[in-house]
Amino acid sequence: EIYHSLIKLKGKHKIPTTAHLNTASFALSQFSKLDLAESRVALIDSATNRRVTYGQLKRSIHSLAAGLYHGLGVRKGDVVFLLSSNSTLYPTICLAILLIGGVVTTANPVNTELELAKQVLDSGSKLAIAAPEEMHKLVSTGVPILVTTRGNELSVEELIDCCDSKVFPINRPDQSDTAAVLYSSGTTGTSKGVILTHRNLISMMIILKWAVEITSAKDNIFLCFIPMFHIYGLAFFGLGLLCAGTTTVLMRRFDFQGMLEAIQTYKVNNIPAVPPVILGLVKYTDDGYDLSSLRSVGSGAAPLSKHLAHGFRAKFPWIDLKPGYGLTESCGAASFFVTGEEAKARSAASGALLPSFCAKVVDPVTRIAMGPCGEGELWLKGPAVMKGYLGNEMATSATIDSEGWLRTGDLCYFDEDGYLFVVDRIKELIKYNGYQVAPAELEAILISHPLILDAAVIPLEDEEAGEIPMAYVVRAIGSELSEDQVIQFVAGQVSYTSLFLLPTRAVSRHNAICLYFQVAPYKKIKRVAFINEIPKSVAGKILRKDLRAQSKQNIISK
Ligand code: AMP
Repeated sequence: EIYHSLIKLKGKHKIPTTAHLNTASFALSQFSKLDLAESRVALIDSATNRRVTYGQLKRSIHSLAAGLYHGLGVRKGDVVFLLSSNSTLYPTICLAILLIGGVVTTANPVNTELELAKQVLDSGSKLAIAAPEEMHKLVSTGVPILVTTRGNELSVEELIDCCDSKVFPINRPDQSDTAAVLYSSGTTGTSKGVILTHRNLISMMIILKWAVEITSAKDNIFLCFIPMFHIYGLAFFGLGLLCAGTTTVLMRRFDFQGMLEAIQTYKVNNIPAVPPVILGLVKYTDDGYDLSSLRSVGSGAAPLSKHLAHGFRAKFPWIDLKPGYGLTESCGAASFFVTGEEAKARSAASGALLPSFCAKVVDPVTRIAMGPCGEGELWLKGPAVMKGYLGNEMATSATIDSEGWLRTGDLCYFDEDGYLFVVDRIKELIKYNGYQVAPAELEAILISHPLILDAAVIPLEDEEAGEIPMAYVVRAIGSELSEDQVIQFVAGQVSYTSLFLLPTRAVSRHNAICLYFQVAPYKKIKRVAFINEIPKSVAGKILRKDLRAQSKQNIISK
């Protein structure tokens, strides 16, 4: 049984089949078609109130592309590493890189130097563009760095100013050429580069433009705190909404008070959000802020419980709560609710398939495709589905089959009306506040400890963060390693006695105190349980389901 999106894209929303089409020139052509394109405000920085119009956006994309081409020698296929929190420059930088045929790779600015260095190496980045405050984290990689804003170093802002009359060849890539490499751990293992092609990005831009137009949200003011380094933020705010001509108020990073202030100041109508933000709004008691402008709040990147959805709708009856579902490998959203009424009637659903997507629900054991209400692994197909994992044939063929079906690793079903329900996650991934945490990465760190014989990391449900990483640890015989010591070890505050485990670069000059951040703060282990043996299958695979069941039992009995 194959489920098709009930919507066929027609006319101006048809996904182009032209063999050679550049994401950025496609976006620029969309800006030109917008009414009032020149003077319409595309982006507002909530911290400075600085506004960028569509006209300015167009000109700065061209100037920066010229600057990158002539000044820094960026050419077709060159990978450029972008390290910055949200900024009005973010979409300009991405589109300028794409216009000359470059490839964008993005990362979370809170990642550690080591995590960033791994990605620079894996992606083969030739140049890095970094916010001044993040720049120091990339110095050790040896990659040339261009900073975003004016200061002592050569900056994106200067290139935009000085290169506005320079011409450069606009690259016309094959639509199957790589446009972006975003990192995800997929169904198993550590972080891998998800290859997104120009076709993938263009398809998602059209789908989002269609969604804005069908929901009459073109004149809505959107609020963006979703990070643009993640596919959710990049697809929505870096690409899709701009093609639809909306105005977005940008927050550099999320803070609850700042969000309330921005909603009130800019009379925000529409917020694509994540479940922890929905929870914050449900718990929010101070009614000093005027939130009456809000019309629509989306939820994605992690499961939204029925209970929370009910709570939100009861407290904010004038706001449409619209959950959606997607993943980096599908270039963002694959399902979504068009109307608030539909969503209200099915509060545990994550919308219906977006146009251009089709799906199968496959029994993980028998591989039989299930009909309506049958649970199984969700497989997706469509022009937005990734090409594969960078330099990883094995992971690619384990994730996409010969017919192009993407295995999502999520346990789902469709109801009789074609609405998608995400029941559970089969894959290893942990989602902390919507951010990816790969258990395999933490397990590798845990077993590098001399007093840990074996370890497994699983998600533990958490009201605030959705899930937190919990470790099951097998201690060496006679060891009295404590929960706190394990947590500190993974976080990186390593004690003097284990200094021998560290690369010399990380040891302080006096060799006494050592602060070495192994993982970004959102990946830290939050709970530890000691166990005699990690349950494994005959093939040696960790039986995570058993550990998850055990963790639930322990929590209940505590
Ligand atoms: P990412 O690649 O970081 O966007 O993570 C994608 C994963 O997040 C999906 O495979 C799901 O496991 C989870 N996810 C995203 N949206 C939802 C949703 N609406 N309900 C449940 N899980 C979700």
